[in-house]
Parts: sequence; structure tokens; C-alpha cells
Amino acid sequence: MTELLFQTDSYIKEFEAEIIAVEENAIILDKTAFSYKGGGLQSDTGVLTTSQNQNFKIEEVIFRKGKVLHLLSPSPTDNMLGEKVKCKIDWENRYRQMKMHTALHSISSLLYKKYGSAVTGGNITPEKSRVDFEIDHLRQERVQEIEQEMKRIIEEGHDVSISFMEREEALKDQELIRTKVNLIPESVKTIRIVEIKDVDKQADGGVHVANTSEIGVFKPLKSENRGKNNKRLYFTIE
Ligand SMILES: [Zn+2]
Repeated sequence: MTELLFQTDSYIKEFEAEIIAVEENAIILDKTAFSYKGGGLQSDTGVLTTSQNQNFKIEEVIFRKGKVLHLLSPSPTDNMLGEKVKCKIDWENRYRQMKMHTALHSISSLLYKKYGSAVTGGNITPEKSRVDFEIDHLRQERVQEIEQEMKRIIEEGHDVSISFMEREEALKDQELIRTKVNLIPESVKTIRIVEIKDVDKQADGGVHVANTSEIGVFKPLKSENRGKNNKRLYFTIE
């Protein structure tokens, strides 16, 4: 099992770890600050340096069959098992994903509070993100309304906090029920909660900024019709 450092501190950019397994083109570490692909987020990328100062690119990090795999280029060799290594995250990309992700949570909550809309999908990249939600129309005035509301949430500077909750307790929380905490596999007994104070509360495994003021400027891009009661909004941050 790999200790997931990013789940308690999303601001770790560099760390030391030990290689506990080598599998083809990937390695497994005893702990990692690299956030893996999933939950609508891209994986982190970065660099791994061995004790002999050999550098490997960490091209992607994925979660497969309970393992956090760091895909290396060039491929690792078996004799790297047990090595102490230094790892560094491509921070610019990662920080943009943290901002985008926090923006996505904020927008989900405001869509629900303002229009009663449920989010049906979303995807985040460092460049742009999208959110799909149930709503009858998404004409210009409504996009402007969303932009204004996001501006307010960002300017108000809401703190974002991480906590862990027992599954039975989480299943009794109305806000967590609304954001589908019940869909988390039953084998997961302790659930990670990400709360944007007075804005949003969700069960979530991803990386976020510590305060909404870090998001910067929220910019809606184009919107798309995805059916009678389903619309898609692309956005970015500046
Ligand atoms: Zn999330």
C-alpha cells in the first residue's frame, strides 16, 4: 500500500520515497504526493531521481487493482527495487488542476443552489475544464449569472478543508447524500471529505486549493447543448 500524501497535503511539490515494487514500465512507492488519474482529473507528471542521480520522467500515475503505478520513461530496471528516490511534481500543471477542481466543486454547488441543477459529468485538464448539468437552457444571461456567482465565491475567499469520516456517519449527512456518497464502494470504510466552507461538501479523493481566492479569474468558454435538459459548459481560469 502506498501512503497518499496528496490526500492530506495538496501542496507537497517534492518528496523522498522508497521503491517497493517494479512492474514493467512502472514503479510503486511507499508514499507519493503524485495525484493519480481519476475522478475527472488528469494525472500529475514529474521527475524521479535515483541516488546515483539518474533521472526518469514520471509520465503518468494511475490507480490499478489497488496499486498506485508511476509510469516511468525510460522504463525502470528490477535492481531499482528498494532504492530511495527523490520525486518532483510538475507544479504548474498540478496547481492549475487544483484551481480548476476547486472551481468545479464551487460551480456544482451554485448550480444546485441557484437552479436546482444536478451535475451529470465533468472533466478537468490544466488548460480547460467542463461541467455537464441538468438545466432547461443555458443562454448568455445565464452564463453571465454563473460567472458573477463564481466571481463572488472566489472573492469571498472560502477556506477549503479536508477531513475523514466513518462511512456510517457520512451516509447520514444530507449534503453528502446529495453528492452521492452512497456510490462509494462499500469496502471503503473511511471517507475523505472536502469542504469549501459555506459553499460545498463532497466525498472526494482529489487535490484542491486551500482557499477559493486562489482560483483566480473564472472564465466561461463555450456552452453546448447535450439534450433537452442537459447542457455542457467549458471554462478556464486566468
Ligand atoms: Zn472533486
